[in-house]
Amino acid sequence: MKDTLKTFNEIASLLLEKEKSNPVADFIPSKDVFKTLDISLQEEPIVDEIFLNSLKELLLNTPKTATSAFFNQLFGGRNDKAVLGDLLAVILNNSMYTYKAAGPQIGVEKVILEKVCAMIGWDTNSGGSFAPGGSMTNFMAMLMARDSKNSHVRMDGVSERMTVYTSTESHYSIPKNAAFSGIGRNQVRYIPVDSFGKIIPSKLVESIEEDIKEGYIPTLVNATAGTTVLGAFDDILPLSEICKKYDIWLHIDGAYCGSVLFSNKYKHLIKGVEKADSFSFNAHKMIGTPLTCSLLLVKNKKYLDQSFANEADYLYQTDEDDFNPGKTSLQCGRRNDALKLWTLWKSVGTKGLEAIVDKQFELANVARNYIKSNSGYTLFSFNDSISVCFNYKDIPARELCTLLYEKSQLLVGYGTFDGNEFIRLVTINAQNDKEDIQNFFKVIEVFVSENEKQLSKTS
Ligand SMILES: *Cc1c(COP(=O)(O)O)cnc(C)c1O
Repeated sequence: MKDTLKTFNEIASLLLEKEKSNPVADFIPSKDVFKTLDISLQEEPIVDEIFLNSLKELLLNTPKTATSAFFNQLFGGRNDKAVLGDLLAVILNNSMYTYKAAGPQIGVEKVILEKVCAMIGWDTNSGGSFAPGGSMTNFMAMLMARDSKNSHVRMDGVSERMTVYTSTESHYSIPKNAAFSGIGRNQVRYIPVDSFGKIIPSKLVESIEEDIKEGYIPTLVNATAGTTVLGAFDDILPLSEICKKYDIWLHIDGAYCGSVLFSNKYKHLIKGVEKADSFSFNAHKMIGTPLTCSLLLVKNKKYLDQSFANEADYLYQTDEDDFNPGKTSLQCGRRNDALKLWTLWKSVGTKGLEAIVDKQFELANVARNYIKSNSGYTLFSFNDSISVCFNYKDIPARELCTLLYEKSQLLVGYGTFDGNEFIRLVTINAQNDKEDIQNFFKVIEVFVSENEKQLSKTS
């Protein structure tokens, strides 16, 4: 293992060095990837030198997500302390189902979940779990909503027509999860949004009333804290009133921007989160830990038990349930996603996490100000969002984004809202500075002036 660590150090150092001079990997068209790189597998072992050369070539040609040229959705940067925790989690290789297998790492997970629940404002009845990504934490919330509505479903399957409400701007995991959970994609109601991309509460009420008349059973309202395109925050308080009135589970999908919880300046964007039944956020997005680090929090942990507990004598042989989180998680064997958040949080404190979040809003302000004060730009997004949506010189966004990628200039995506298609800059990498954001625009401007002919203009 010592030799392996030495090799790791060498390769990682090489990568770090190369990404400084070459912040965007050379573009390899997907159709050429097997021709360009030695990825194929063969019967016989190969000598170390050839193996290492193939490996290095592969790594150097992989997209670089930590540089100041990566603004694709919805993560970026590289946080030293969090990387340290994740590397050590690999070396330790515990499975997070029992205290017997993971020991104090279970304590690490518990301490994070309890602290976040306390920050939400929930009492000791609350609980949570880590799952591999926001799609899966949303899935867990949907399953708890379903089983809280009808506790027989877990034994007998879904026989009623349950409905789920979410905005037209919400994440595509909601319909996917409706299919997985047996609720069904056709039972998802897409509620319209206002001009800021926020769900319209009165439209939600209309939809619920109509469904009740038709004999459906309204089961879950999903609110979004940071919509995928605009980074908009649904107003939680009116939604919580509606959910209370109609006895519907309220989940807040904060995968993208739920981490505003850590910021005194921006937590007002999720005002009322304590009234929700469940809340999820991805620390691998705004907090900047390595992928994946997604937390699900639930106001009453009995719903975690109801939906996820299963006896397994071969597995649960020691300790209280409280220290065997396999009983309240989606998976059996489960990676330790908690340690990387803990190493970061322990070292920088809650105030350090707050600074990470605030920095992203600062950078978004820099970007919006740049767009407003320079000619040729049109802005399509709003304050209090880390998604900055714009067009430059009316060039079709998808064309510009694709060419920037193919010419190894920048990685940035595009999105649509209200009939407009635009470039979406996400200022999610808190290691960037004001200059990096300004440089992003400079790269675009120079690139456009050099490629004006190739970029067809819309009329
Ligand atoms: C990213 C995102 C998700 C999905 O999270 P994954 O970790 O990619 O599965 C869900 N909802 C929203 C709003 C997101 O931005």
